[in-house]
Amino acid sequence: MFVPDYEKTQKLVEIADKSTKRDIIEAINCQKFGIKEFAVSLSPLIDNEILRMVAGRSTLLTRKRFGRAVSLYIPLYFDNRCTNSCVYCGFNCRNDVERTVLSYDEIIKEAEIIRHHNFKNILLVAGEHPESSDIDFLVPVIRKLHELDFTCVSIEIAPLEEEQYRTLVKDAHLDGLYVYQETYNREIYAAVHPAGKKNNYNWRLATAERAAKAGIPKIGIGFLLGLGDFREEAVNLAQHLSYLQKHHWQSEFSISFPRIRNASGINNSFTTVKDRDFVNLVSALRLLFPEVGMSLSTRENPDFRDAVIPIGFTNLSAGSSTTPGGYSKNGQAEKCHLEQFDVEDSRTPQEIAETLNSKGFDPVWKDWE
Ligand code: SF4
Repeated sequence: MFVPDYEKTQKLVEIADKSTKRDIIEAINCQKFGIKEFAVSLSPLIDNEILRMVAGRSTLLTRKRFGRAVSLYIPLYFDNRCTNSCVYCGFNCRNDVERTVLSYDEIIKEAEIIRHHNFKNILLVAGEHPESSDIDFLVPVIRKLHELDFTCVSIEIAPLEEEQYRTLVKDAHLDGLYVYQETYNREIYAAVHPAGKKNNYNWRLATAERAAKAGIPKIGIGFLLGLGDFREEAVNLAQHLSYLQKHHWQSEFSISFPRIRNASGINNSFTTVKDRDFVNLVSALRLLFPEVGMSLSTRENPDFRDAVIPIGFTNLSAGSSTTPGGYSKNGQAEKCHLEQFDVEDSRTPQEIAETLNSKGFDPVWKDWE
């Protein structure tokens, strides 16, 4: 099992801290860009000129590997009950908000509305609750989504046992799983996850490996930007991803970049990662992992999303509602007290597709068959 090597991470961050601007430029242009060059390319000394350089290289590598295709996906939130108490999340069990659980029929109704918007790539999302992660409930739902012609069905729910993932693959053809460690720093992890099963750091960390062993073809990982020092988190994430690619090469891994956002009824005192650090992080990861898919969510505002898409992103969420049942009410994202976090980009899927077209990108609604 992957275990973060904090000593190695600390040494790499120290090397980055001691680097000169010349060292940084050499690292960015290095033919054998490895973990050391990655750490150096996140140096606090990076100025706007060097940032443009690293973002430029990242853009070139992304075009070379992925062309101008950008896949669109949409989350379907079906249950906002949760047994965990993540202090940064509006769904946490200590937050006194109304809870909504969609039935099988209500989920399918939401999915039909989503299909009407052309999406073939769907992500089922729920808070961590035994009923929302009951595979006897999930198998028929995922099967029905495939019948509705969704070619890629993924889940973002409570971590499961390897055998349960295997059943979801075998009996329902589950295509993907997203699981974020939130923070690789054990102390911060314990402080922001004070109760519930998510309090178990190792169980969560091993989730991607259990999923890969069970045969899930696509696995997305990441951390929540704003909880820990972003450079340390990035170095740990890079080591985690390298480990997964080496030991579980049968699965395809991707990275997401969720920035912490405000939500109703919780402590909103976290300081999120600045825009320039976000760009730096995405670009440096692209240099280290030229072939990895990268996802950008509607947590980011439209102008920022449009500006950073070319740098490295291959998957975009669009028209998202983080409210269970939100599509049936509005047909697209709406703001209300049940949201997990504030959606910043509330453009319709068609508006986002038109924006991509106008910038010379090809919006792709279908993942693969
Ligand atoms: S982040 Fe996930 S596990 Fe934590 S409270 Fe929110 S929904 Fe529950």
